[in-house]
Amino acid sequence: MQGKVIIITGASSGIGEATAKLLASKGAKVVLGARREDRLKALADDIRAAGGEAVYQVLDVTRQADNDAIVKLAKDSFGKVDVIFLNAGIMPSAPLSALKTDDWHDMVGVNITGVLNGVAAVLPTFMAQKSGQVIATSSVAGLKAYPNSAVYGGTKWFVRDFMEVLRIESALEGTNIRTSTVYPAAINTELLNTISDKGTAAGMDALYKAHGISPERIAGVVAFAIEQPGDTTVSEFTVGPTSQP
Ligand code: NDP
Repeated sequence: MQGKVIIITGASSGIGEATAKLLASKGAKVVLGARREDRLKALADDIRAAGGEAVYQVLDVTRQADNDAIVKLAKDSFGKVDVIFLNAGIMPSAPLSALKTDDWHDMVGVNITGVLNGVAAVLPTFMAQKSGQVIATSSVAGLKAYPNSAVYGGTKWFVRDFMEVLRIESALEGTNIRTSTVYPAAINTELLNTISDKGTAAGMDALYKAHGISPERIAGVVAFAIEQPGDTTVSEFTVGPTSQP
């Protein structure tokens, strides 16, 4: 981990924030992106106060130019990129019959297009370096169908397939790029704030109150995937509360 340059999208809260703190405490140089600049600044200040290295930039993952800019920031600041953690996401879940079509398109934009933009931004650097690691946050909703989760789950199924093809093609092309996909279950973050459908929000709130665990648990497995030797890929890990059925 020491000296690795790691870009984290969705770093302003939850899983991204917890991962940034843990990786920086282990000696990584973290490059933080999200839309809320005040939160990024506070996080970078915390990391630096604890003796770590962090830079940040406002990033909307739906914009290709923003993704290109954060890769440039990493290279200008630290000379290379070792890992990109594509973690930004939203979950305005609802029954399809509620026809929340704006939410559908927002989820596709952040959870799918955001991942594509991040990979498009970093791949030329990884190919030139002949090394790199892409880690993406899917969800247990990317493994199994849940009611109210047709679109959110669909975006996370996309991440699963996309990451697996990236892994296979990287191996076939010999680009030495490692891929890891994380499938979290109920993790206590700000994600439920993105749900606008009252019934779905109430159900999720009860589930998370009963079972939710700390985002530091996901940070721990992300660190584990990064810390494996370069010839070893931890391609998938599902992590959730022991008590969650
Ligand atoms: P949070 O809401 O705490 O974090 C989401 C992060 O994504 C925030 O930093 C937010 O920052 C960022 N984000 C949202 N939209 C954009 C955008 N357009 N551009 C850049 N950043 C954006 O929730 P989590 O930490 O839980 O979410 C992280 C990931 O984990 C998501 O992909 C989520 O789907 C996934 N996940 C979470 C689970 C859970 O139980 N918490 C379960 C399964 C998966 P900002 O608003 O400042 O842009």
